[in-house]
Amino acid sequence: MKTIENSKVIYKFKPELEPVEKVQRGEIFKVLTNDCFYGQITSEDQLLDNIDYSKINPATGPIYIEGAEPGDILKISIIKIKPASTGVAITVPNEGALGKRATKSLTMILNIEDGYCDFNGIKLPIKPMIGVIGVATKKDEEQDTATPWKHGGNMDTTDICQGSTLYLPVNQQGALLALGDCHAIMGDGEICFTGCEIAAEVTLKTEVIKNKSIEWPLVETSDYTMVVASGETIDEAIESATEQAVDHMMKGLNITWEEAYILASLTLDIKISQIVDPKKTVRGAIPKYLLSTEQLINSI
Ligand code: CA
Ligand code: CA
Repeated sequence: MKTIENSKVIYKFKPELEPVEKVQRGEIFKVLTNDCFYGQITSEDQLLDNIDYSKINPATGPIYIEGAEPGDILKISIIKIKPASTGVAITVPNEGALGKRATKSLTMILNIEDGYCDFNGIKLPIKPMIGVIGVATKKDEEQDTATPWKHGGNMDTTDICQGSTLYLPVNQQGALLALGDCHAIMGDGEICFTGCEIAAEVTLKTEVIKNKSIEWPLVETSDYTMVVASGETIDEAIESATEQAVDHMMKGLNITWEEAYILASLTLDIKISQIVDPKKTVRGAIPKYLLSTEQLINSI
């Protein structure tokens, strides 16, 4: 199995990126990722103010997927996320939902063992997820790896986890996939600024769905197909996620826009992904009992 080393990282998703590896459609491969601090925090004495900020949020890659062309969808099956044995969680003054009250920094190093994260003796069941995962952007567009947008990026979405399938729009030849910033556990919202930040070994399979394009990423779980949309504000993100979800429901179920809008009000769950990145992210979750992911994509 090909393994992409975590020394090969990018900090920007751009239209032109130099691939570090090529994989075939359907190939299973492993990606080694750094934690979001690039491994710079190794003890609880270290606070965020004395690390090199230019190294934050490295994404391993880019990986060229044979056969992926602009106007296709890249389908990424997240087969396994194996977390490192320790993670880092921090609070920093002025950050997060309670930034006004957060005046002191605190760094916690948390042990991860046998499926649990040890929070000072409280055992938290882990659910490893990928914070940053994206592809090369459209022409004349560039996003740093801290920012979530239509190409993916720092979506910090708990459902982008082991067992899920992510669908990203392909903007450039080979898609040019890169990922990093895994978390062992994170609550929806990521409210104080970080999850349990970990290095990880991520096993993926990538396939290409030809001639189908999506504006925003989709993530498929056992019960839902979720539109993952970002905006300057949560309200903007909700509008974008809802708009794409209602369109999918209209086309997939062959109903009018007004019917789909009402149906969305009855069945669509809007969930907050994160509120702490340069853009905010939500997901609009369409139940699969209404429409399978395959039917939804076929109807595009
Ligand atoms: Ca993140
Ligand atoms: Ca993170």
